[in-house]
Amino acid sequence: MAGRFEGKRALVLGVANRRSIAWAIAKRLSDEGATVAFTYQGERIEKNVRELAASVASPLVTACDVRSDEDLDRVFQEVADTFDGGLDVLVHSVAFAAAEDLEGRFVDTPRDRFWLALDISAYSLVACARRAEPLMAARGGGAIVTMTYLGGERAVPHYNVMGVAKAALDSSVRYLAWDLGFENIRVNAISAGPVRTLAARSIAGFTTMEAMFEERAPLHRQIDADDCAAAAAYLLSEEAANVTGTTLYVDAGYHAMGM
Ligand code: NAD
Repeated sequence: MAGRFEGKRALVLGVANRRSIAWAIAKRLSDEGATVAFTYQGERIEKNVRELAASVASPLVTACDVRSDEDLDRVFQEVADTFDGGLDVLVHSVAFAAAEDLEGRFVDTPRDRFWLALDISAYSLVACARRAEPLMAARGGGAIVTMTYLGGERAVPHYNVMGVAKAALDSSVRYLAWDLGFENIRVNAISAGPVRTLAARSIAGFTTMEAMFEERAPLHRQIDADDCAAAAAYLLSEEAANVTGTTLYVDAGYHAMGM
């Protein structure tokens, strides 16, 4: 598919393997003409990410733990150096909560793991957006997309502290849209239905979630990472030039239902 991202420079955070939603988005951006830089977290997944990045001729693959300001400063400096000081697209597809907090009761979440989930899953978007701002401003504007889930708006058993983190993420999208709108930078979220990825596997009862989803969603079918990629490509493209601060649901309509 030619075109919408011809000449565009993108940075994608959150690829762990080929099942990652971030990978589907990156592939789509690349297929439509973008040059895509990647970050990976930790040596364990470095090889995976380097192989995937090589398949789309990525000019930059670099380590980044979003808890570290030093890592983030270095990454955005490397992005500036690689892309001549400009960035058009940022994909934030990062989340983490301790496995024990995705199975027990939310009320038992300890303070340190509460902040860990919010730091990695919500604050990291703010930290990235602030560093992307000058690079996008240098290009006359840009677009940012993050990944969220309905568990930030409603209580979903087992999603627990990750739901609270998604609520903070959703709100951050709106405040960032306001701040960065002055620079013609748009910020949006995609709220996805369940997709079988590494992160999803750590949620207790994920299979039950999928079964209920298919039964209750108006379209009675699962969604996949490519559905998220299609939505992200729209939000990140000029076709969405006047869309910011919003959430696009890619969930076969599940969010519309009352039961
Ligand atoms: P994934 O496991 O492939 O991706 C999660 C990514 O977060 C991984 O690449 C991991 O390395 C990264 N990450 C975790 N801690 C990090 C840290 N400290 N620093 C840097 N990176 C870190 O799983 P995914 O399902 O593709 O998740 C991507 C996003 O989509 C997440 O925000 C997730 O909450 C969201 N989402 C997923 C689903 C689903 O069902 N899979 C549904 C809705 C939303």
